[in-house]
Amino acid sequence: MSGLFDDLRDLYQEVILDHGRKPRNFRRLEDATATARGDNPMCGDRIELFVKQAPDGTIADVAFQGRGCAISTASASLMTETVAGKTPDQARALGAAFREVAMTGACPDCGAALADDMERLAPLSGVHEFPSRVKCATLAWHTLNAALDGAKEASSE
Ligand code: ZN
Repeated sequence: MSGLFDDLRDLYQEVILDHGRKPRNFRRLEDATATARGDNPMCGDRIELFVKQAPDGTIADVAFQGRGCAISTASASLMTETVAGKTPDQARALGAAFREVAMTGACPDCGAALADDMERLAPLSGVHEFPSRVKCATLAWHTLNAALDGAKEASSE
């Protein structure tokens, strides 16, 4: 059977491949105020995340470097696009919602406030069908939390 659902899958796959090949904000931030390293030994994904926070805590700029599978790279790329301009609390809330989507495919309690951002992250929602890849998709978000918490290392565990 083909139709809208298949078209959506193709579109999502295209977004993941595009971000995996040409990750956005893939660079060092020399003036970062917080950094953290993320490691997903299950797959071999490693990222280094750079966050520059404004004096009021707002995420003014965020970038990453590293090496990993297409899903981990695409997820980090999409994350940097969605959390720029957010407060740490907003970024953590979005990360929690994204982890739920990655694990279950849905986030019934996400609400309207997160709807636009969740739509941008929707291409990765399909990973819930592949439990071994969920950690690839959530690594960047664990690493962001670590950076915001002042920790240096984040594990996918
Ligand atoms: Zn991976």
